[in-house]
Amino acid sequence: MRFLSYRSPDTPGAAPPCWGYLDLGPGDAAPPDPASAPPTPVVDVTRMATRTGRTYPTSVRALVEMAPEERSALFEAWRDQVQDTRAATVPLGELQVLAPIPEPRRNVIAVGANYREHADESPYSPGLPDRPIFFTKATTTVTGPGPVVVDPRQSTRVDWEVELGVVVGARARSLTPATAPDAVFGYLTANDLSARDQQHERPEGQWFLGKSLDGFCPLGPWLVTADEVPDPQDLSLSLTVNGVPKQQSSTARMVFDVTDLLVELSRFMTLLPGDIVITGTPAGVGDARTPPEYLHDGDVVVAEVEGIGRLRTTFTTAPGA
Ligand code: ZN
Repeated sequence: MRFLSYRSPDTPGAAPPCWGYLDLGPGDAAPPDPASAPPTPVVDVTRMATRTGRTYPTSVRALVEMAPEERSALFEAWRDQVQDTRAATVPLGELQVLAPIPEPRRNVIAVGANYREHADESPYSPGLPDRPIFFTKATTTVTGPGPVVVDPRQSTRVDWEVELGVVVGARARSLTPATAPDAVFGYLTANDLSARDQQHERPEGQWFLGKSLDGFCPLGPWLVTADEVPDPQDLSLSLTVNGVPKQQSSTARMVFDVTDLLVELSRFMTLLPGDIVITGTPAGVGDARTPPEYLHDGDVVVAEVEGIGRLRTTFTTAPGA
């Protein structure tokens, strides 16, 4: 299933976001692009709750935090309630799509130098690491498809990074290669936007701040459940800027795969349902190009992970943003 959070035209701005899932018919395997606004229906869970008189989780995050067996029972029930789900749909094109989990509880966990060709593509690259290099991005970086606005006084060297994102679906400590896959709720497309001036122009480096400007973690447009992703290490991923290809690789090129990352993290910390781990970017970032390239006002960045989602970001600069 593909879950998304959104605002619809009839929801007051202050209300919590609505959420639902894409109602893809059988054979309609290719997920649509929200920007091209096809008439794909979204089953609105709030409407369905009103219609059926049942109580459902109030957000995608609450869904992810449910016990796995309760969640399976809920999905099963929805599959059986065809009449109710059909009556609760809204057209995708009318929705303002947010990040699937618009306000995560904790920072987004990210990984540096985790693709073979990216690990040495620039003078800043640390080379192939022996163990995963973790850092985080503030929760306020999370945003959905759409605009990211940057004050040029904060950065004039904003760069792109397409990544496969993993959403943890269970509280987990000391995962093993055998148990780690069961701790995954699903996957999404991420763009790990980075202010390279803040990240590199200090002798000591500054990854957290350089990666934590507001809106610097576009995610989505939806969260795809793990059962729809037979092999997360065999997905192509790509990124274009104004239609020009900049990154093109496969998750097969990761240094540490999704299982390795979850095993390593959970050796040291308890993973919580709803945690988001973005798994590193392949070669082709702007900073490593000759000459270096950065985003400019009006640029359109499209990040895509095969079968997971196409995430469109419009980059804008504005003093005081
Ligand atoms: Zn990254």
